[in-house]
Amino acid sequence: MSLLRVEGLGKSYNPETKVLKDIHFEVGTGEFVSIIGPSGAGKSTLLRCINRMVDFNEGQIIFDNQHVGNLTKKKLRKLRTNIAMIFQHYNLVPRLTVIENVLHGRFGYKTTLQGVLGRYSEEEKEFAFSLLEKLGIAEHAYKRCDQLSGGQQQRVGICRALIQEPALVLCDEPIASLDPNSSRIIMDYLKSISSEMGITCLVNLHQVEVAQNYSDRIVGLRNGEVVFNGRSDLLTQEQIQNIYGLKSKDLITA
Ligand code: ADP
Repeated sequence: MSLLRVEGLGKSYNPETKVLKDIHFEVGTGEFVSIIGPSGAGKSTLLRCINRMVDFNEGQIIFDNQHVGNLTKKKLRKLRTNIAMIFQHYNLVPRLTVIENVLHGRFGYKTTLQGVLGRYSEEEKEFAFSLLEKLGIAEHAYKRCDQLSGGQQQRVGICRALIQEPALVLCDEPIASLDPNSSRIIMDYLKSISSEMGITCLVNLHQVEVAQNYSDRIVGLRNGEVVFNGRSDLLTQEQIQNIYGLKSKDLITA
């Protein structure tokens, strides 16, 4: 069953350039889908249209049978509890503790006053600890986030996403700032979110090989257009070449 449907999506930041052009694709419940493509292809813009961090100009995004483009402010807030996001630079509050950052993920469920006062229930705190344990960082719960390594901070980012109890997690270059070992750990956790918890993951990735190893399906973007959409094991060298606009000789060193 499709959780997310993107139909004829178009986006321009200014009248001269269209960043996304007639994008169509679907993501099924529990699927792990990667979006690959060169820098500037529109990957990040595409993810940000899905939770309306940026508004789009054309087409439809249908998430869980709701038209994302038409939502009122209140419904948009509700949608954003259901769609979590993980960022390249983690987007944590550095001077706050790990546990406080994780609990921030509950913000969308609070009244503004509860949120500002940082009021969280015992259940929410237990939930936060259980997630930190799952991600292997419970021992750091009371450390400030800026004392953690990049890989550990990204695990906090994952906990903050999961505490939202989302149906979909959007991951915008989640490993672009990490070393290979931390990258593998983060990708393994993301994979288990979809395979064990049934949460759908849509992940922007720079690294084709990583996308091939972890994804059920890959969407290839080039210059704002979908030029590949298929099972990751069906992505050929020619298609990679086409997505990245490379010549055969470049591919060897790419
Ligand atoms: P990718 O994630 O594939 O690198 P982006 O979505 O970040 O691509 O960018 C696609 C294009 O949109 C780029 O040309 C970029 O310069 C432009 N762009 C991205 N964000 C903005 C913005 N806020 N204002 C204007 N142009 C933007």
